[in-house]
Amino acid sequence: MIYNSKNIFAKILRGEIPNNTVYEDEYVLCFDDVNPQMPIHCLIIPKGAYVNLNDFSRNASDEEIVGFYRAVEKIVEIKKMSGSGYRAIFNTDDHGGQEVPHMHMHILGGEKCPSMIVK
Ligand code: 5GP
Repeated sequence: MIYNSKNIFAKILRGEIPNNTVYEDEYVLCFDDVNPQMPIHCLIIPKGAYVNLNDFSRNASDEEIVGFYRAVEKIVEIKKMSGSGYRAIFNTDDHGGQEVPHMHMHILGGEKCPSMIVK
């Protein structure tokens, strides 16, 4: 899996493109999606160069993986969704509809999500 460092999230990580930061630590950056699909729609990305969830799960260190998932709960708290709930999505590769080839989790909420569309 070859990581293309010209992708838009790599540019955001390098500070070349602005973002509305929700949370940042040594492992992740979380920012609002530029085209929100729900009242709350943010993206959590690892700071390491991973193409997608497979790449991350296989090649990230245990510390990076734990750091990523620990951040999710903090972001949910910041966005005040811990009581109401939210949806987390990893679009992966072509069939998953992934557009940006830097691993990311969508966090969606702020109102009830529609039913999952599988077809
Ligand atoms: P994917 O389809 O790869 O799972 O999702 C990519 C997401 O990135 C989309 O929801 C899209 O709106 C968002 N996105 C694309 N370019 C930018 C950008 O420059 N800034 C921000 N904040 N979000 C972006």
